[in-house]
Amino acid sequence: MLVHKAYKFRLYPNKGQKIMIAKTIGCSRFVFNYFLDQWNTAYRETGKGLTYGSCSTQLTQLKRGLTWLKEVDSIALQSSLKNLADAYSRFFQKQNKAPRFKTKMNQIQSYTTKQTNGNIAVVGNKLKLPKLGLVKFARSRIIHGRIVSATVKETPSGKYYVSILAETEVQPFRKTDSAVGVDVGLNDFAVLSNGLRFPNPKFFRTLEKKLAKEQKKLSRRKELAVKRKCKLTEAKNYQKQRKKVSRIYEKMVNARHDYLHKISTMMIKNHDIIGIEDLQVTNMLKNERLAKAISEVSWSQFRSVLEYKAKWYGKQLVIVARNFPSSQLCSNCGHQNKEVKNLAVRDWICKKCYVHHDRDLNASRNLCQEAIRRTAGTVGIA
Ligand SMILES: [Zn+2]
Repeated sequence: MLVHKAYKFRLYPNKGQKIMIAKTIGCSRFVFNYFLDQWNTAYRETGKGLTYGSCSTQLTQLKRGLTWLKEVDSIALQSSLKNLADAYSRFFQKQNKAPRFKTKMNQIQSYTTKQTNGNIAVVGNKLKLPKLGLVKFARSRIIHGRIVSATVKETPSGKYYVSILAETEVQPFRKTDSAVGVDVGLNDFAVLSNGLRFPNPKFFRTLEKKLAKEQKKLSRRKELAVKRKCKLTEAKNYQKQRKKVSRIYEKMVNARHDYLHKISTMMIKNHDIIGIEDLQVTNMLKNERLAKAISEVSWSQFRSVLEYKAKWYGKQLVIVARNFPSSQLCSNCGHQNKEVKNLAVRDWICKKCYVHHDRDLNASRNLCQEAIRRTAGTVGIA
């Protein structure tokens, strides 16, 4: 199967390259906002959007007047426009809210450029990128296949990364005739129906505590700056602290990401059917408990990673509906115990068959059984 694989690397641009990256991000944002404005106007007046084609022609004309747009990678500007068109068509299909203007304050500052005639390539320990030339990068993995695109990002803590998409052929994993259910939670990251537990590594919690502490400090500094009528962009102590918070946050996200990649690959390798609950991911901003908010983000990542890996490697992922009472059912006899609705109940004894259950393990067993039931006849597992 031909798939697009993403590779993420740390970039180490020199001073000139950093300036060019900032310019390209700025111009891409300008193009996005300029055409978003036009698109919004058209939508207000006609109820319809514009087309990528017509905007693209207009962009060429725009560049004649605004010559600074010519300084940066033209493909990056085209992809910014493409992004907008895609965002708008998702909006029209009611999959998304209407696209919003991008600002310098957005968490993700990035631009995407596409492969044309070898303009993106690995040359020794450097990465060739349009307009930037050869950029030093941490080549931690070998890129397999044809490079399709590269997204250059600057994080709030001032680090640079590149995500490279490469088109590559993947071979399905061998069949194992095995099914598994997985329950994700706050105590353990994941509990599998075969009894395997993946605890949240201790340093996740350490980092979370550190983050909470530094975030408090950040909001105090914000208050101070506001009191002094100092602009936040000019408040040095605030900015310093903001970077510190971002660094911890990035570290945490990366660590979780590595962890869930390891677990998901192992699961896909060892099992043909994987049952997982359709998790409710609440709006992160509304969530007061940081630890929970972060867990939810990694659960949804876990699910999407399982989704594409199952597809790539010829396995089946079954998303079990939210109303399936995976925690309440006895995985031995099927009796439903509504008392388990209470999250504080960590273990219980079934009133009908007297089997003792660990909450998470029992849930994962039910998810496994449900996944098997729902795939009955489609795969070779009884
Ligand atoms: Zn029972």
